[in-house]
Amino acid sequence: MNRLQINQTTLSLAKGDITRCEVDAIVNAANESLLGGGGVDGAIHRAAGPKLLAACRLLNGCRTGEAKLTPGFRLKATYVIHTVGPVWRGGTHGETELLASCYQKSLELADANGIRTLAFPAISTGIYGYPLSQATKIAVGTIKTYLENNPQTSSTEITFVCFDDATVHAYEQAFEELE
Ligand code: ADP
Repeated sequence: MNRLQINQTTLSLAKGDITRCEVDAIVNAANESLLGGGGVDGAIHRAAGPKLLAACRLLNGCRTGEAKLTPGFRLKATYVIHTVGPVWRGGTHGETELLASCYQKSLELADANGIRTLAFPAISTGIYGYPLSQATKIAVGTIKTYLENNPQTSSTEITFVCFDDATVHAYEQAFEELE
């Protein structure tokens, strides 16, 4: 299964490059400095152009589990929501709550800005080492709970953009486990 409908919002998954998504906002798996990095963060900065880094410099960083908004500049996406996932340190350092908070805060920011279409990468599952099956369950579960609790949300389409097949399979599994 790769699609879920919760109130007026469709939650789905797609394989591809998040920098090419034509949505109101893409989410960046950033680091606390917000000054760019590797993985999806580097790709977003390259695609958005140097104005993104200039905008990020004005934000004074972002704590793990929090989220901040910038324009998308050269991206097709109007906005970038920068959130900082936890580094996996064995699971006993609040990683679950911090990762859930990334999704929660990103959705709150999307709602505060009237964002209707939103794309998430698999936060923390690359360089930050979060086990994929656990991370995707947290992503799907947190968003589902948010949508159930906020039926007035502006989000109509939320997409998990997967860079590889392992990530696609992990989300499919997470969707199925909600049944
Ligand atoms: P983190 O530091 O939060 O682990 P990474 O960027 O290393 O962030 O990885 C997060 C996820 O984003 C991984 O699944 C990685 O494969 C994926 N990813 C990397 N580049 C892109 C991209 N251009 N579009 C979508 N996902 C991407």
